[in-house]
Amino acid sequence: MTPNSPSTPCDVLVIGGGPAGSTIAALLAQRGMGVVLLEKAQHPRFHIGESLLPANVPLFDQLGVRAEIEAMAMPKYGIEFVSKWHQEHTLLEFGQAWNRSMDKAYQVRRSDFDHILIRNAMRKGAQVLENCRVTAVDFLPDETGAVVHAQHQDGAKVAWQARMVIDASGRDTFLANKFNTKVKNKKHNSAALFGHFTGAERLAGKLEGNISLFWFEHGWFWFIPLADGTTSVGAVCWPSYLKTRKNSVEQFFRDTLALCPALNDRLKNAQLVSEVEATGNYSYSCTTARGPNHLLLGDAYSFIDPVFSSGVFLAMNSAFVAADVVQATLREPRKLPAAVRRFDRVMQQGPREFSWFIYRVTNPSMRDLFLAPRNMFRVKEALLSLFAGDIFGKTPIWPSLYVFKAIYYIASLLNFRRTLEAARRRKVNIGDTAQAR
Ligand SMILES: Cc1cc2nc3c(=O)[nH]c(=O)nc-3n(C[C@H](O)[C@H](O)[C@H](O)COP(=O)(O)OP(=O)(O)OC[C@H]3O[C@@H](n4cnc5c(N)ncnc54)[C@H](O)[C@@H]3O)c2cc1C
Repeated sequence: MTPNSPSTPCDVLVIGGGPAGSTIAALLAQRGMGVVLLEKAQHPRFHIGESLLPANVPLFDQLGVRAEIEAMAMPKYGIEFVSKWHQEHTLLEFGQAWNRSMDKAYQVRRSDFDHILIRNAMRKGAQVLENCRVTAVDFLPDETGAVVHAQHQDGAKVAWQARMVIDASGRDTFLANKFNTKVKNKKHNSAALFGHFTGAERLAGKLEGNISLFWFEHGWFWFIPLADGTTSVGAVCWPSYLKTRKNSVEQFFRDTLALCPALNDRLKNAQLVSEVEATGNYSYSCTTARGPNHLLLGDAYSFIDPVFSSGVFLAMNSAFVAADVVQATLREPRKLPAAVRRFDRVMQQGPREFSWFIYRVTNPSMRDLFLAPRNMFRVKEALLSLFAGDIFGKTPIWPSLYVFKAIYYIASLLNFRRTLEAARRRKVNIGDTAQAR
């Protein structure tokens, strides 16, 4: 299509049908808006990010998809921490968090999970086109909307004129690339290697679906049991470590697993049943999540290290808050200032709260505290609430989390030499990465 070709009008055009895009498309279509969602892939398609948080569950209820998700998912009641520097491993249950009702989450195969969400958007009335890649967005000079250009897999070009554009393109960061607003996080960097196994040794009974986190000298591993018997295993490492790879990705992954005997043991009878993949996790955020006639959601706005399994929740939650901004923009302008204030706050708060812990998760003092959390001043309950994603709204956890942070700083001071060494290593690893790029 040439720029002069006719474009089809719609209220809202959503770029990307991952959790953020499918959620906002469903919510807005339900409110009677004309929503078009364009997805470059065809669902069900592979995606990494399989461990969800208890805070996801109320969002599933509001979307009306909880039963469908429960039918395909592995229930996840808690987290297991394992460290090669500690004798004991620790099992933490979400049921011991401040809000006892947030006791359960799910492990999901993302291809199936994302498929449920995009089908829900269709059911709610959004027009969903898959195998259709957005190629350009031209914002109109008078701020009345934008013309969105896209291309079908067979090469056919199409265009829409939308009053609002929602960028939910994930780590493709479509609009941030256009506006050059993406900023790499200088404080954190990591890269991941991952694959799927059958026959991995899981925890017993109700604990089977727990996520396990294993620390080792180059970072940490996830161990995520899925409902069909497959277990997702991934190593999140300093990119400087990945740069030492001299052999195939699969062999390097196997060599990396061998550095963590506790995990290797759980995989001794397991078969690798997928390709091993490598991906840069490079954390980033955009300078703003909104502008005239557009909003950025989920990973299209910000990506943080996946150690706390927060990505899908933050993406879906951002869609709920954004739905009110779109509603106010198109239908109730007097509500816009409040909706925008809330949107800005939520978009920054999520990544910020998790990031404080992410920056310190490989620090030995933090490991000590995670492996032996005590409930003085309800610190353990507050920590579990954070792990559950209970960080928005009227949650009462903040004073206790401040106490936790104070304990962490005191423990770091008491182990001054160890803290200094860990900080030095981290700086070298991050510095190395900055040079590598
Ligand atoms: C190694 C790793 C492990 C992770 N583990 C977890 C975890 O355990 N738990 C968790 O919650 N999160 C995890 N995450 C993060 C999680 O994957 C993301 O935060 C989440 O998928 C974000 O959802 P989204 O909808 O914003 O983006 P996505 O899920 O990435 O969806 C974006 C969609 O947009 C489409 N798209 C992109 N560009 C275009 C275009 N031009 N036109 C049309 N369509 C387009 C893509 O095909 C894709 O379907 C992990 C991430 C990584 C890298």
